[in-house]
Amino acid sequence: MESFEIKENKKCQDCGEEILSTARKCKYCGSFMEENLSQKSDYGLFLLAVPVSAIFLIWFWVGEMTLIQNPSSLLNLIIVFTIFATALIAGLELQKTSPAEDRPNPIIWFFYICCFWLACYPLYLYKRKDFGLKSLIIPGMLLLVLLTSSYMYVWISIDKHRNEIKSEYNESVEQIDQFFQNW
Ligand SMILES: [Zn+2]
Repeated sequence: MESFEIKENKKCQDCGEEILSTARKCKYCGSFMEENLSQKSDYGLFLLAVPVSAIFLIWFWVGEMTLIQNPSSLLNLIIVFTIFATALIAGLELQKTSPAEDRPNPIIWFFYICCFWLACYPLYLYKRKDFGLKSLIIPGMLLLVLLTSSYMYVWISIDKHRNEIKSEYNESVEQIDQFFQNW
């Protein structure tokens, strides 16, 4: 009777193969048995909310600043914060979601996302499906494109504005020079 209980099988929800009822992961298709995952934390909303807020900050805060307020350093700060926050959230989610033996090291993912954000942030959003979560690659890619183009647009406008002021300044210096030479 005891041995029968240990060998009790059930069907995998994804591929239909017979697996042990206590299995957390199907040995045929690799999908996670949801009821057997002890903990499952979905931080997907936060992973997307961080770049969304960064885009809003860039347009409605940095975009409204004057040059004296040093908008380019704030712009860079927002980007650094976005990278760090998404990497941290991904690491925490990974640590809390899948059983330790089935997942890659959350700290390594944290560093990868920090160092290679453009590639590893969308990659993580895609890879989430391997850990029993939903893939968020499509909204992730959309936000990535929006964020990088907002960053570049605002950066170029700041630079252009700065050069305009510089050339105006040079012109007035020349005028003053000429005035004194004639005098
Ligand atoms: Zn399966």
